[in-house]
Amino acid sequence: MRTEDPQIIRLVDYRPPDFLIDRMSLDIKLDLKKTRAISRLSLRPNPAGRADVPLVLDGDELVLLGVKLDGEPLQECYSVTADGFTLAAPPRRNFELEIETELDPSANTKLMGLYRSGSAYCTQCEAEGFRRITYFLDRPDVLSIYTTRIEADRAEAPILLSNGNLVERGDVPQSNRHYAVWHDPFPKPCYLFALVGGDLGSLRDTFTTMSGRKVDLAIYVEHGNERRAAYAMDALKRAMRWDETAYKREYDLDVFNIVAVSDFNMGAMENKGLNIFNDRYVLALPETATDADYAGIERVIAHEYLHNWTGNRITCRDWFQLCLKEGLTVFRDQEFTSDQRSRALQRIADVRTLRAQQFSEDAGPLAHSVRPDTYREINNFYTATVYEKGAELVRMLKVLIGDDAFSRGIQLYFERCDGTAATVEDFLACFEASSGRDLQHFALWYEQAGTPSVTIAASYDQDAKTLSLELSQETPPTPGQPDKKPLVIPLAIGLIGESGTELPLKAEIDAFDGASAAELKRGLIELTSARRHIVFRDLGERVVISALRGFSAPVQLVQSASDEDLSLQCAFDPDPCVRWQAAQTYATRLLVAAARAPASGRNHSGIASFTEALRKAVSAGGDPAFTAQLLTLPSETDIAREIGDNVDPDAIYDGRQRLRADVGRALSTELLRLYRDLASDAPYSPDAASAGRRALRNTALDLLTSADEAAGTPLARAQFDTASNMTDRIAALTVLCLTESAAREDALEEFYKRYAGDALIIDKWLSLQATMPHPGTLDRVRGLMRTEQFSMANPNRVRALIGGFAANQRQFNAPDGSGYDFIGECVLLLDPKNPHVAVRLLSAFRTWRMMEPRRCRLAEAMLRRIQGVASLSPDVRDIVDRSLA
Ligand SMILES: [Zn+2]
Repeated sequence: MRTEDPQIIRLVDYRPPDFLIDRMSLDIKLDLKKTRAISRLSLRPNPAGRADVPLVLDGDELVLLGVKLDGEPLQECYSVTADGFTLAAPPRRNFELEIETELDPSANTKLMGLYRSGSAYCTQCEAEGFRRITYFLDRPDVLSIYTTRIEADRAEAPILLSNGNLVERGDVPQSNRHYAVWHDPFPKPCYLFALVGGDLGSLRDTFTTMSGRKVDLAIYVEHGNERRAAYAMDALKRAMRWDETAYKREYDLDVFNIVAVSDFNMGAMENKGLNIFNDRYVLALPETATDADYAGIERVIAHEYLHNWTGNRITCRDWFQLCLKEGLTVFRDQEFTSDQRSRALQRIADVRTLRAQQFSEDAGPLAHSVRPDTYREINNFYTATVYEKGAELVRMLKVLIGDDAFSRGIQLYFERCDGTAATVEDFLACFEASSGRDLQHFALWYEQAGTPSVTIAASYDQDAKTLSLELSQETPPTPGQPDKKPLVIPLAIGLIGESGTELPLKAEIDAFDGASAAELKRGLIELTSARRHIVFRDLGERVVISALRGFSAPVQLVQSASDEDLSLQCAFDPDPCVRWQAAQTYATRLLVAAARAPASGRNHSGIASFTEALRKAVSAGGDPAFTAQLLTLPSETDIAREIGDNVDPDAIYDGRQRLRADVGRALSTELLRLYRDLASDAPYSPDAASAGRRALRNTALDLLTSADEAAGTPLARAQFDTASNMTDRIAALTVLCLTESAAREDALEEFYKRYAGDALIIDKWLSLQATMPHPGTLDRVRGLMRTEQFSMANPNRVRALIGGFAANQRQFNAPDGSGYDFIGECVLLLDPKNPHVAVRLLSAFRTWRMMEPRRCRLAEAMLRRIQGVASLSPDVRDIVDRSLA
């Protein structure tokens, strides 16, 4: 069945490199089919490495043209394959190796290394793409100073960019070619190398740093799109300023360039001084982009910029430490957005993402720890666990040691580790130093996979006026980790009286755990063992526990709160996260019951009190964006995860649709009023407050239409026709797409005609149709694949249409297995050309084991079919093997 057994890489096997490359001089002559790369590596033996070993450089699909050692052509003493270069007896002194390779950018469909996107040449090197350009020590702990000369046809590529500062440019005499030389003074690993050549337009600006240095900023886009980059530029300047005020981190080069390309495997890449972006995270105008697109641009622009310190100046020693740059930078971009928008709303959005993506990953066969200890294919570890849970660990650390110690610790990290390739241990040591706290137990969060569940059992004794809390934690087994240890879990907590007021925390804590008044002063209980017992005294009234405030730890909270308590929390809790969580928990209870036993009748009184709780919350007013969150029911994926086994996605869908209709009916007066009152003639602005009003108004439209399609459809149709911005237009179209009306087909047709020339907008159109819950969606998707709007070679199109279908819980999990077969076939079709995109689709199968037996068998059959294909890429091989293990 298998042609090769991919090598397993283990953290415990880490060894420092045997050689270092102090300087790297790269000369690239761009050509569509025959690009020449001449690299000059200034090498020396690493004092910390082994002596008398061969020099082994990494390569991938390379064609070698020639090698020189200290300027002399080498004829023998080395061996070379497409995937590696070995110099048997390298000098035990400083030496220079010159390597010439030839590349075909036009044939590079993997979009790793040097490739063509539209009319531009560009690169993507993380994680292991640099070895597709030249033979090198392609590992993050080899830091070199780069000088890059790029040469190209003047007309084909008037713009030539690389990392660092531009030091020279000119024409190549007697030719139609020109060149540019870039020098990056900051040592970096090769995954941060980047190069762009093409005919691009640009938007330019400047930024003056806190020490008064002027930095030239430019965003390069396809000609004609310059205007669409203005919001990205604004976000960039805000991110640069924010890193100065929040972290005292200043930008360090004379220029900062961003290039937007249309063919890109990921969101964006933080190459030093030259970020390369998927154009969907750069381009926006009110008539082309939604509020969510604007927010996405702001977040991703900030994320990549913030990597300049957390990722570039301090990089990772090895790929096991990926969370060191990603988790920390996600935490920093979340903080940036919190400061720019609403902290409470940002937290809720982050928790939604964490639960939908990371908790789901933890619940399936692909579960792994934030810092994995083995991998077969590093590309498969750019996951929600490394990114989102990685960010949660940083946030939890801040909660545990407090804001002051955290900010001193992070400054120490910047001072101590600048210019190095660091580890999670190096990072935590800084916070041990700043807080005086032993973080060894906390470090277990990096090693142990799985979502811990924390149970809080409360009992109130009216006579004794005491409240007893029995806290316990448990982490379920995950692949390779059958037995779990208790973790350090900070539980931010409060007590709410019957009247809705907050009560002071006075407690007596059992001696075995050590009493800590200090914890309670901070509103925090630390659960460090499997169980903990706490008694609160002097409580004259029954109280409701407000637990996991601010979502203080990435855990699943199991609480025996009554429906009445949840209603109270939903209305009064001072913590917005808890208020939102109460509404989610309440809805989840109803939805899980409805999906588990669809035949046993509906819980009418439960539904009535739930909708009444929402009605009160809506009537109380408050931040519209928050109200919109309260009114948004848990997703089908959330409900499936909650049920855990024998899942029937049709039953989940039906139950959720009916509850949506119940909410729409019960709140129809309020929702209609909101829909009318929140209408606005003001010119579009992407700011958080305006976006929040649009979100609530569109949520109202959606619920109204769920309750009464006949009444809602004309409203949606009218909004579709008159909308002055993409947010409102696409929201109306989304509502129409959930109906099976003629209005739906008309609107889809008109939308297509209006935007047919704009790929990013057509992606929305493709994705909307792929996510329709109705039968017939698969045929529609197959039909769309045959149209000229679709291209299997473009990752954005594939993600929108095929990825959209893979996320369609009802149709992907169709009971006849047609959805599994379709996605499986797409994976096999894509794998030989672009394994990265194939793997993303394949990960839709991560929940297969929790399905009911018939679907489970069908999904497994498709996975086995994929596994049986001999020529799979290592990427797909790894995921399919783990999914079936
Ligand atoms: Zn990142």
